[in-house]
Amino acid sequence: MTDNYGRIIDYMRISITDLCNLRCRYCMPAQGIHWLPMEDILTLEEITEICRQASKTGIRKIKITGGEPLVRRGCTELIGMLKTVPGIEQVTLTTNGVLLAQYAKELYEKGLDAVNVSLDTLDKDKYAEITGFDAFSKVMYGISEMEKYPVPLKINVVPHRGVNDNEWQQLTELARDHSLDVRFIEMMPIGLGQQFQPVSNMEILQKLQKYYGVLKPDTRVHGNGPAAYYHIPGFKGCVGFISAIHGKFCAQCNRIRLTSIGQLKPCLSYADSISVKEAVRNQQGDEVRRLIEQAILSKPCGHSFENPSAVTEMREMAKIGG
Ligand code: SAM
Ligand code: SF4
Repeated sequence: MTDNYGRIIDYMRISITDLCNLRCRYCMPAQGIHWLPMEDILTLEEITEICRQASKTGIRKIKITGGEPLVRRGCTELIGMLKTVPGIEQVTLTTNGVLLAQYAKELYEKGLDAVNVSLDTLDKDKYAEITGFDAFSKVMYGISEMEKYPVPLKINVVPHRGVNDNEWQQLTELARDHSLDVRFIEMMPIGLGQQFQPVSNMEILQKLQKYYGVLKPDTRVHGNGPAAYYHIPGFKGCVGFISAIHGKFCAQCNRIRLTSIGQLKPCLSYADSISVKEAVRNQQGDEVRRLIEQAILSKPCGHSFENPSAVTEMREMAKIGG
């Protein structure tokens, strides 16, 4: 379906849990976040029904996220369930990778179409400093287990000043040695992200160009998002940039979000949401579909990250799914 600004909305990101087994300091407070009663969280069947209705509005691609989606029991079953929904063409996952080794085979068997692994550093100690946990080796092992299956893999890096912005080369070179894309994501001023200084992707691209020479844009479709990709000669994968701040891409926005408690979010930047929980619990399929359409039609023209005082979304990213 097309929104009020002529954009085709065919992608829904679903946060299936607020819980996480890490505490990335730009995403989640060290003490964790307010624990939501289980009865407030959508069941796997309710999520599937919302996707069934969403597909009737033209949603074709689903991303499972969180919190950490793999800590929710039934995550892999949900992926299998969504793969059977008529009209849904692609189901992908974003994970911190800590539990990936354990689930890699099952994710493949359930038909997962692609996986993004968040990894901000290749330094074990720095990893513990950023995430609060000594889990670097588990994530690397998870990536190597996932590589055994023909599921496209991307590494997501959020550079932050004075912490990991000196690792641009080492992180990029993961795409030289492995068949995966490495993507740099600009820190967004949401929740704890407001306390960090974003590193412009232009700065990283310039460093890469200085080191590797002029990079050739790669125009092939790599995913559902607004990343700009480049190919470096001799590399197996590409390097991508998601530049929400310094390369505003709202004119190409193709998505809505669904939180774990059933709120549809038209835009990441604003707190506004529309609840579908009651409608799905009352088995009012038509009403669920109407609310999804309403969320699509309420999408604003663009975010306001360049003017943080206009950002009304105050919740942590873990609650809204990133
Ligand atoms: N736990 C999973 C993970 O880490 O991939 C999925 C949820 S996490 C909220 C999704 C993505 O959002 C991660 O790649 C994370 O680095 C990113 N993220 C969190 N806070 C952010 C912020 N303020 N700005 C930009 N990206 C952020
Ligand atoms: Fe957890 Fe992902 Fe947030 Fe890190 S970015 S705290 S792994 S939800």
